Amino acid sequence: MKGCTHTNQIQNVEPHTRGCEECLRSGDSWVHLRLCLSCGHVGCCDSSKNKHATKHFHATQHPIMKSLEPGDDWGWCYIDEVELEFV
Ligand SMILES: [Zn+2]
Ligand SMILES: [Zn+2]
Ligand SMILES: [Zn+2]
Repeated sequence: MKGCTHTNQIQNVEPHTRGCEECLRSGDSWVHLRLCLSCGHVGCCDSSKNKHATKHFHATQHPIMKSLEPGDDWGWCYIDEVELEFV
């Protein structure tokens, strides 16, 4: 299993919003929330119809997100496509 070489891009971020930033603006709903660990952007997961977390990666190249769901401590690197653990 290959590792992630982007963990140096993880910043000590606070979530900008309590929900997906773009969905809050457009009035859409989401399934799960993902936090960008480079800038604090909150986006919705790939099970949500708008997939804003993935769109945020494509727009910004910020590689690593973390689940914002209570009790979840995993993240994902979009570039390496590996799961990361935050304990
Ligand atoms: Zn990576
Ligand atoms: Zn969204
Ligand atoms: Zn970001």
